[in-house]
Amino acid sequence: GKWVYTFGDGKADGKSSMRDLLGGKGANLAEMANLGLPVPPGFTIPTSVCTYFYANGKTYPKELQAQVERALDHVGKLTGKSFGDGENPLLVSVRSGARASMPGMMDTVLNLGLNDETVEALALKSGDRRFAYDSYRRFITMYSDVVLGLEHHHFEEILDGYKDSKGYTLDTDLDADDWVALVGQYKEAVAREIGQDFPQDPHAQLWGAIGAVFSSWMNARAVTYRRLHDIPESWGTAVNIQAMVFGNMGETSATGVAFTRNPSTGESRLYGEFLINAQGEDVVAGIRTPQDITEHARLESGSDKASMEAAMPEAFQELTRIYTLLEKHYRDMQDMEFTVEQGKLWMLQTRGGKRTAKAALRIAVELANEGLINKQDAISRIEPGSLDQLLHPTIDPHAKRDVIATGLPASPGAASGEIVFSSDEAAKLQADGRKVILVRIETSPEDIHGMHASEGILTTRGGMTSHAAVVARGMGKPCVSGCGSIRVDYGRGTMTVGSRTFKTGDIITIDGSIGQVLAGRMPMIEPELSGDFTTLMGWADQVRKLKVRVNADTPVDARTAIKFGAEGIGLCRTEHMFFEETRIRTVREMILAEDEQARRAALAKLLPMQRADFVELFEIMEGLPVTIRLLDPPLHEFLPHSHAEIEEVARAMNADPRRLADRARDLSEFNPMLGFRGCRLAIAYPEIAEMQARAIFEAAVETEKRTGKAVGLEVMVPLIATRAEFDLVKARIDATAHAVLRETGAKLTYQVGTMIELPRACLMAGDVAETAEFFSFGTNDLTQTTFGISRDDAASFLGTYIEKGIFAVDPFVSVDRDGVGELVKIGVERGRKTRPTLKVGICGEHGGDPASVAFCHEIGLDYVSCSPYRVPIARLAAAQAAL
Ligand code: PEP
Ligand code: MG
Repeated sequence: GKWVYTFGDGKADGKSSMRDLLGGKGANLAEMANLGLPVPPGFTIPTSVCTYFYANGKTYPKELQAQVERALDHVGKLTGKSFGDGENPLLVSVRSGARASMPGMMDTVLNLGLNDETVEALALKSGDRRFAYDSYRRFITMYSDVVLGLEHHHFEEILDGYKDSKGYTLDTDLDADDWVALVGQYKEAVAREIGQDFPQDPHAQLWGAIGAVFSSWMNARAVTYRRLHDIPESWGTAVNIQAMVFGNMGETSATGVAFTRNPSTGESRLYGEFLINAQGEDVVAGIRTPQDITEHARLESGSDKASMEAAMPEAFQELTRIYTLLEKHYRDMQDMEFTVEQGKLWMLQTRGGKRTAKAALRIAVELANEGLINKQDAISRIEPGSLDQLLHPTIDPHAKRDVIATGLPASPGAASGEIVFSSDEAAKLQADGRKVILVRIETSPEDIHGMHASEGILTTRGGMTSHAAVVARGMGKPCVSGCGSIRVDYGRGTMTVGSRTFKTGDIITIDGSIGQVLAGRMPMIEPELSGDFTTLMGWADQVRKLKVRVNADTPVDARTAIKFGAEGIGLCRTEHMFFEETRIRTVREMILAEDEQARRAALAKLLPMQRADFVELFEIMEGLPVTIRLLDPPLHEFLPHSHAEIEEVARAMNADPRRLADRARDLSEFNPMLGFRGCRLAIAYPEIAEMQARAIFEAAVETEKRTGKAVGLEVMVPLIATRAEFDLVKARIDATAHAVLRETGAKLTYQVGTMIELPRACLMAGDVAETAEFFSFGTNDLTQTTFGISRDDAASFLGTYIEKGIFAVDPFVSVDRDGVGELVKIGVERGRKTRPTLKVGICGEHGGDPASVAFCHEIGLDYVSCSPYRVPIARLAAAQAAL
């Protein structure tokens, strides 16, 4: 078998399309080599070896060792060096690289191949003993951490102690002899802590690092990351071994990270950070504050440190040439890592750059306008769920800001919450329903769960490419990073800025769009949607087949949804109008009524209120379809339960508290979700349905009279299992319509249809469609009744089901295609067979879930209906499904 793929010197065994085998990093290194770009030569051990490793008791294919040796020789030839050689040693980096970027995995090991002998050779060759020993101590630190399991802090403590004893403050105060002395101390620490000497044999070092990469695929952080990002375990990781180039060879050397476009805003301009005389992870680690790459960015940031453009003009020119070429080649914004070694630029990585939703939209629209991609590509480049980021509130610009500190605008949006200083605490509070801001000196992959649980993230260290910044952007959470004026004391649970101290539990607000940290909770306002958003959504609308409606019960919801492009109301849950505070007393009178007459009297009081609601909705929707559903929840939901509540309500209603309590008890059910609800209410108490129908038709007549425009009226009956139920309620609705039209002399067209949310209704859909004019699948109840899992009680065991792999995703979030989906399909087919013009939609929560929207497209529904903020998500998901 072929277990090693080489690259370098203008050619490679691999290419970018071989990502599954070579991992993202390996495939793109090969591609860059093929493009003739300056890539240090090296080779990739593919993911197939990882698969072999785990399938064969952590052993390697037998040919692997020889193939690695041969590849090392090849790299040696290209660089004129030799691995393990005492005079001219080849040093390598070892990096993991899975198919998808996985920040939870093994970090990098640099300078591998150094030992007590080769370090001297490096010193001689480079003429820089300080550089050689600095590289060696970095190697010992990294190797010990990721291969030997000896954490960084052991070495940091030694370094700090050494600096104290010498009166140094900065690492740059240390000279060659200092590093020599420290290397000795580091090696002693290794021997002491792990009971064996630091490995001196470069081959042993290399196999140790390779084994560590493959083993890291199963470490806890990686497992968590995969779970959060739906990455299959079977993918495995590749290992990339590459000749070292040195960014720490003095003032003409540097290392950096650059994006071809701004990952926060999408602006088409090279953007990034670099550090002179530094190596590898120094930029990302955020230990030193990096410098800007372009002069433009330096002027904007007001930094007094030279930009790369000014400090290294030749390398900068080369970087400019390469980034332009890479972006054209990949037809997407790239995130690149590079090193400058004594003035020469080397490319270490390129990949599609992570970006905010705002940047993603701008980049997609601009790439399409530049002709690099077409509109379809642009549509497919945006993750529908990410639009959520754009639709969230920002701080009211008129609000007075009490700015505590300013850091970097690492991830846009604003959020308020209680300060927490640990990720475990964040997760704990969030589980209790609290909103928190995670405050850390810096974050690491161990903080992922805490970042997930937080409204926003604040760090005191680290740049725009620090862990906190990158991860927060990916999660769509606001983040302010590198807020250096804040001092965090984990022990005390405080953060201090100047004379002000904030403690755990204090409320702060962060504004990730401008990098501010503010005291207290700030008023937020609805977001303005950008021109790019409108453009892209316009393209999406041109290709999608599904209509998108909204589930809206209030004028505010309806207006928001119109702004987001809703094409009608797919579900108006009228009970939400019953719940309204000032009406609840009348609703209770209605429920407590002794006889029909008393009930009708109470309903008569509710009628004008409902009518006014409907008039408002009809006016807002301006002739678009509006589906109004008759009362659905069990009546007991409207009654008070606790003793104190009953007393209070009885007093207010001037009713007998004992009677109220009796009635509440009468109405209580063992299983209300399967009890006296849905159309069963309308059947037992037809006067309720009649009042609602009257309110609806009178409102429609009134609106049409006032606006001169037809109302798109659809009346919907909930939770039917039989056609007989539907027919009975429909007869009442039609009779009421006739009465209203006779009384008003008006004309009106309307449809009466039903929710399909019980398995029997799906199976009997052919029969139901004889009289029902439209169907709307209520997949919340259909999921509940198909699985026999209570919607309201599922939380206690669903987590276990997902952990055990019984469910890949929560079936209440994403439709279960195999079971529930099959019932929907049957319902659609049988319904349309009876009535070819039958209009069919879905209004369960699934209507706003991209995967479920795709399913609805596939089975030919007419529309999906979802909550207002998910309307754009559904529009985009519907377009992607149609591509
Ligand atoms: C449903 O069951 O899917 C539905 C939309 O109705 P509700 O959530 O109000 O029961
Ligand atoms: Mg329902």
